[in-house]
Amino acid sequence: MVVKIKVKNISFSYGSIKALENVSFEIENEFVGIIGPNGSGKTTLLNCTAGILKSDGCILINGKDINKLDRKKVAKEIGIVPQIPNISFPLTVFDIVLMGRNPHKKMLEFINEKDIKIANDAMKAVGIEHLANRTITELSGGELQKVIIARALAQQPNILLLDEPTAHLDIHHQIEILSLIKSLIGKGITVIAVLHDLNLASYFCDKIILLNKGKIFAIGNVNEVITPNNIYTVYGIRVDILQHPKSKKPIIIFPE
Ligand code: ADP
Ligand code: MG
Repeated sequence: MVVKIKVKNISFSYGSIKALENVSFEIENEFVGIIGPNGSGKTTLLNCTAGILKSDGCILINGKDINKLDRKKVAKEIGIVPQIPNISFPLTVFDIVLMGRNPHKKMLEFINEKDIKIANDAMKAVGIEHLANRTITELSGGELQKVIIARALAQQPNILLLDEPTAHLDIHHQIEILSLIKSLIGKGITVIAVLHDLNLASYFCDKIILLNKGKIFAIGNVNEVITPNNIYTVYGIRVDILQHPKSKKPIIIFPE
C-alpha cells in the first residue's frame, strides 16, 4: 500500500535550543534525501517524522496523526535506521534482524516460519547471510550498518527512514545499499534518507530537502535544489555544477 506522508508545520526544541522551525512537506512513494550542514536539524527531522520525538505541529500518514497512534501501529508503518545503533548486547546478527518482526507480533506470540523466512530474505537483500550467526558486537561499522538496514527491511514498513545509511560504507557498498533502497520505491515504499554526499543524493534521490538552521531552505527535484547559489548560501563553499550526460542530474565539482 502506498502511503502519503504530510508533515505540517513541525517545530522542535531541545530545551532552549531550537532544532526545527515550521517544517512542512508532503511526499508519497519517492526517494527523498535530506541534506544540510552539521547541526541543521536533519536527525531531529527524521526522529520527529518517525514520532520518536514529539514535535509541535503534526505528521499525518494517510491522514492519520502518528502522535495519536500507538507505537506498535507506527512501527508497522515506519522502519527507522538510526545513525549510530546503540546495541551493546552480544546478540547474533540473525537475532537482531528477527527483532524487526516484533511490531507484527502479539504479546507472547512466538516467531514462526514466515518470520524466519522474512528475516533471511532481509539478510540476503543486503548481502549479510554469511554473518547470520556472528555476534553483533564483533562486526565492523559497515557490517553493523547493513544489519540495521536488514532489521528495518524485516519490519516490512511502508515508510523507511534512514539517518546517513552509508556513512560507514566504502563506495562499492554505498552504491549497493543506495541501489537497494531505491529499488524499494518500485515496491510502493516511501524512503527518506539523510545523506551527506551531495553527488550520491543527486544520483539516487527523486526529491531533496535542503535544511539550514532548522528550516527548509529549499525543497524540490535535485536540479532545483542542488545549485551553486543554494550550496554557497547554506554550506558557505563555492562549487560548480556539471550535468550528468545521461540523467541530466547535477554533479558538484570544486573549482580550481
Ligand atoms: P544534524 O543531524 O543535521 O547534524 P541534529 O538534528 O542532530 O542535526 O541537531 C540539530 C540541533 O539540535 C543542533 O544544534 C544540535 O546541537 C541540537 N541537538 C541535537 N540533539 C540534541 C540533544 N539531544 N540535546 C540538545 N541539543 C541537541
Ligand atoms: Mg544527524
